[in-house]
Amino acid sequence: MAGAPLPTDEKARLEALHQLDILDTPLEEAFDNLTRLTAGVMGVPISLVSLVDQNRQWFKSNFGLEARETPRHMSFCAYAVYQQDILIIENAKADERFADNPLVTGEPYIQFYAGVPLYSQDGFVLGTLCIIDREPRSLSTDQADQLRSLAQQVEQLLKLHLQTRKLKEQIVHTEAINARYQAASQGAAAGIVRINGLGHILGVNRHVCQMLGYSEDDLLGKNVSMLMPPHWGDHHDNYLAAYQRSGVAKVIGIGREVTALHRKGYGIPVHLAVSEIARQADRDDFEQRQFMGLLTDITDLHETREQLREAKNQAEQANRAKTDFLSSMSHELRTPLNAILGFSQLLQNSRNPLPERKQRQAEQITRSGRHLLSLINEVLDLTRIESGQMLLSLESVRLNDVIREAVEIVQPLADEQGIRLVSQLPGSGSGQVYGDYTRIKQVLINLLNNAVKYNTEDGSVTLTYKVSNQACRISVLDTGIGIPANRLGELFQPFSRLDAEHGSVEGTGVGLALTHKLVRLMDGNIGVNSQPGEGSVFWFELPLSDPALLSTKTPITRASARSQNSPNTTHNVLYIGDNPALVEDELQQNENLVVQCAPDVDVGMEIACSDEPCVIMISMDASNVNGFEAQQLLNRNLLTACIPVIALTSDASQQLAGRAQDLGFHAYLVIPFEPGTLSDRVRKILDQETR
Ligand code: ADP
Repeated sequence: MAGAPLPTDEKARLEALHQLDILDTPLEEAFDNLTRLTAGVMGVPISLVSLVDQNRQWFKSNFGLEARETPRHMSFCAYAVYQQDILIIENAKADERFADNPLVTGEPYIQFYAGVPLYSQDGFVLGTLCIIDREPRSLSTDQADQLRSLAQQVEQLLKLHLQTRKLKEQIVHTEAINARYQAASQGAAAGIVRINGLGHILGVNRHVCQMLGYSEDDLLGKNVSMLMPPHWGDHHDNYLAAYQRSGVAKVIGIGREVTALHRKGYGIPVHLAVSEIARQADRDDFEQRQFMGLLTDITDLHETREQLREAKNQAEQANRAKTDFLSSMSHELRTPLNAILGFSQLLQNSRNPLPERKQRQAEQITRSGRHLLSLINEVLDLTRIESGQMLLSLESVRLNDVIREAVEIVQPLADEQGIRLVSQLPGSGSGQVYGDYTRIKQVLINLLNNAVKYNTEDGSVTLTYKVSNQACRISVLDTGIGIPANRLGELFQPFSRLDAEHGSVEGTGVGLALTHKLVRLMDGNIGVNSQPGEGSVFWFELPLSDPALLSTKTPITRASARSQNSPNTTHNVLYIGDNPALVEDELQQNENLVVQCAPDVDVGMEIACSDEPCVIMISMDASNVNGFEAQQLLNRNLLTACIPVIALTSDASQQLAGRAQDLGFHAYLVIPFEPGTLSDRVRKILDQETR
């Protein structure tokens, strides 16, 4: 007995059977009812739902038979599976395929067999619904049809079994996801609120309850707007409605900082991230749509931010106070210092020459005074830049001109120290930069001075510049002591002298800090390359002047700083001449006028450039002051050109009055003046400026 041949699709058929996951499952009433019904309708003692496995046939239902399975090679059903059609064996003993089958020759003594194939949903024959009798018999066409119908019912049950199995799998899967979500949600260190499209709360986690002082029951089913400050909550329903209408989300997917409302009524700063739970089935039913809000308490962050803001404010205040202090101290120091300088110069230049020793002492006073003055001026400039009061007069500057002037100023120092100072300038007109003439000169003088001061015996200083596309790079190269790489970072810090304070070279340690700030203020860059023992190259770059650029950049003038006049603002008035009492007596009743006196034009220019006097008065009678020359100098200097200058003279002739006005004096006043005349003039000028 060989058994039935294998179907051609046996492998796929077995896969379909195993996918059902029904083999060896317990008996089920639905299947048993069907086999009982089949046996009853067909009038047979045995009816089976037989599933043909690889080596056996297994019975999902076995009405009238005890065995749950038999070997495949004895199986009648395997033949029905093979031929994929109803198999009817009226008398097994007369059929050579079954005559010697142990199921025929022994229990259950099969004589009659009819089996209808059971198909899976995708068309594989899984087994049969069969009926068995111990007597030979036949099956009418009607009975065969009935048996087919009953087999279809079994197929339905198998389909249902498959669906149930898949559903169970899904439930297990969903339960796992739920468990994970619950664990993540309840254990999360952030609040989670789930709402529907109407804003009703569907779920909250523990954290949100703790954060906002509610129990879960307090919140479920309520409108989520109860967790928001009233002005915000009122808009929330409208917001959801607008989202429903337009589909345009303003909040979803965008994290932002908002305030959540605690049960006790106070606000808690939170970071809120809202996302929509994408569920295809609920797309058109807004009420069923769900949104999840993730709330993170950022109270600590807020406090830290507040502390930082406070610290920043305090630091800024302290910095302002420091700047104000330095600025007013420097101002206060300048007045007596100018007197010291003035008198020491008077002593040196007096008609009766001083004895040599006294002359040396007077020179020392002048030198120290000048040193102190330059320190004060640099500090003043620094504080002006820091407080945003440094005003530049930006214009197109011919580099060759400004370099020449700077070199002229530094040349005496270079000669004194035996340093060769060379400027290698391209042809005239090649370098035009956009900057403030006086400040560029200041930068150049500082770099050249340093290059000379920190040079070595018989050293040299070379100044060059190179024009590129956008900018012009000016380099000051020296053969001096150089700077170690690890100290380059300190160079541009105020009061940092890199140990030069222990040497013999005089300095303040402020020059490079100021230079750096000035260059940056003119939209430039500054840097240094240095090799200890070999020398340094200090360079700075300034933007090239471009005619188009010039027309769009409004020159910044000093007037804008002075326009902040108020009755309480004090104003400097500068007097250049040898009889300060002349103006001091006249102006001292005006509390908001500070009179500064300069004994000569040089000191006068220095004060005028750094102190922004509102008016300058020049004595035309003083022996060491050439009033017309002084006026021309002031007029040419961008920092002083717009300061009104009053000439004070004892010459009442009309001729002088005419010349004075031609030269651009604001006015000339004849000494002795009527009491109040000078004050009135100054006041008028101030009034015009405030307007
Ligand atoms: P100072 O008044 O001391 O010259 P600066 O701010 O101009 O102040 O310079 C800061 C320090 O940088 C100087 O004290 C010096 O140690 C160093 N330095 C500046 N220029 C040079 C240079 N060309 N070569 C070597 N060292 C320099």
